Amino acid sequence: MATIERPSIGTHEVANQPPPLVDYNVFRTDRVLVEAVKREGADWAEARISAVGEIAGSEHAQSLGAQANENPPRLKTHDRYGNRVDTVDFHPAWHELMALAVSHELHCSPWKDPRPGAHVARGAAFMCFSQAEAGVGCPTSMTYSVIPALRTQPELAAEWEPRFLSSSYDPANAPASQKSGALAGMGMTEKQGGTDVRANTTLARPVNGGGPGAEYELSGHKWFMSAPQCDAFLVLAQADGGISCFLFPRWTPDGERNRFRLQRLKDKLGNRSNASSEIEFDSASAWLVGEEGAGVRTIIEMVNHTRLDCVLGGATGMRAGVAQAIHHASHRSVFGRELVEQPLMRNVLADLAVESEAATIGALRLARAYDEALAGDEEAQSFKRVANAVLKYWICKRAVVHAGEALECLGGNGYVEESGMPRLFRESPLNSIWEGSGNVQCLDVLRAMVKSPAAVEAFFAEVQEGAVAEPRLAAFASQLRDELPGDLETIESRARRLVERMALALQGSLLVRYGDEAVADAFCSSRLSGNWGQAFGTLPAGTDFTRIIERHSPDK
Ligand SMILES: Cc1cc2nc3c(=O)[nH]c(=O)nc-3n(C[C@H](O)[C@H](O)[C@H](O)COP(=O)(O)OP(=O)(O)OC[C@H]3O[C@@H](n4cnc5c(N)ncnc54)[C@H](O)[C@@H]3O)c2cc1C
Repeated sequence: MATIERPSIGTHEVANQPPPLVDYNVFRTDRVLVEAVKREGADWAEARISAVGEIAGSEHAQSLGAQANENPPRLKTHDRYGNRVDTVDFHPAWHELMALAVSHELHCSPWKDPRPGAHVARGAAFMCFSQAEAGVGCPTSMTYSVIPALRTQPELAAEWEPRFLSSSYDPANAPASQKSGALAGMGMTEKQGGTDVRANTTLARPVNGGGPGAEYELSGHKWFMSAPQCDAFLVLAQADGGISCFLFPRWTPDGERNRFRLQRLKDKLGNRSNASSEIEFDSASAWLVGEEGAGVRTIIEMVNHTRLDCVLGGATGMRAGVAQAIHHASHRSVFGRELVEQPLMRNVLADLAVESEAATIGALRLARAYDEALAGDEEAQSFKRVANAVLKYWICKRAVVHAGEALECLGGNGYVEESGMPRLFRESPLNSIWEGSGNVQCLDVLRAMVKSPAAVEAFFAEVQEGAVAEPRLAAFASQLRDELPGDLETIESRARRLVERMALALQGSLLVRYGDEAVADAFCSSRLSGNWGQAFGTLPAGTDFTRIIERHSPDK
């Protein structure tokens, strides 16, 4: 019988596919961040930040991030014998990432080693690490942020602060006194009110008369309490004196499991490596932090720091998107030419890069204001009062559309889970929602205008520093001032427009002074002078695309 010749069906040669963007230092290859760290007073920390950048860009850490998302946490309510345990099981990849974050002190460094630039240094390292995985940023950020609020109650701070400042990650479900390190979370949001925390219905009953630092029993619930595996939480509850802040530990001082139940974990859009829970308190022991009735004022110290992290997180997502997009376009050819050489793609990449640079520069400038304000600088305190809300609103908003466009630069590959872009995309709306959603930030700016006019003046003083050198910014800022406050009847409905323009003015001022010349020029002509479209990739023709793309390339 004659044999039939069949062509080989072996895998064909793979061509025109980019190499994975791994084993690179996400800090050293981010010129904007390196410059910002030096400028904002943290050059002493370069080596430390670089070490985090090296880890975050490694294939190993990138793979841990993917694994932690593919294997989300599982609620464990009972042990095998039926005893309640109310804990969460995490994949080993999560624990490894947490151990790295904690050993690099992303949860505590500025409090452990306070010095000029400490919040900038920690912010830059946080940005680098979040590029391996953003979910671990949640307990890391909350532990970093709990310290200033906890210090309102010195005896509680004396007991808990050393645990939170430990650089040892100890995931054991055991009393904090028996562990080598502890982590913190927060519980404000209830079913009937997240933004409106004054609608809280959780009740606090004093055990022995009550008062600052004293024990209370909490009964009620929280609708969103992330990282419920943490060792202690700041939570809000109604005491006789009004809404108050309490330290609620997982275990009571006598070594008993505290009286709470984890009801469910949320099935979330993104941030899937991290657990967010619904919890019920059943006469749970908790200790009053600050005065009864001063709960919002006390916990806001924590919230402010997590809001800084939202700004850093928004900027991080954009940097990650730009790095992936430029990398892909530099290795993929279409119609005989690399994508990065195609004029229209160059416009898209450059526009994404301009947005990313504006975000990073703004975020690190804000971190410096934290350093200065904590050192007693009142001008910095005023500036950050307004700039934090303005930048949280705008950078977190921009991060969402930015992620979608960066994803599209990878074409179909970008829509596929393995590229990491879907994870980036799903994560992108989160920073805008938690810690005060978009509208809430805008209303907060209006509140500052009424209650702290000095804060608005400090904000515009910063804008003016750039406006003196750039007529387009000067014209934009002067028009904006004319709109403020404007018709008071309509100011609330105009708040987004005003705050967006304040953000653009601030970013413009920072870019003019500190950014790359071509980036600043592109920003002023597009965002400030209106020579721009509705989507990314609509920068005017005279833009120096080559320079902007090269500056932002992770491969150069
Ligand atoms: C993944 C995730 C994790 C979270 N983790 C925690 C946690 O650990 N601890 C915790 O306490 N909370 C947590 N939250 C809750 C989060 O902080 C709230 O969802 C958020 O503050 C919004 O509150 P809400 O969901 O009740 O929405 P609402 O307060 O009902 O707001 C709905 C919308 O209305 C807008 N809005 C509110 N007031 C006004 C107004 N006056 N004018 C115009 N618009 C307004 C808001 O901007 C928002 O867009 C988490 C949320 C998510 C998504």
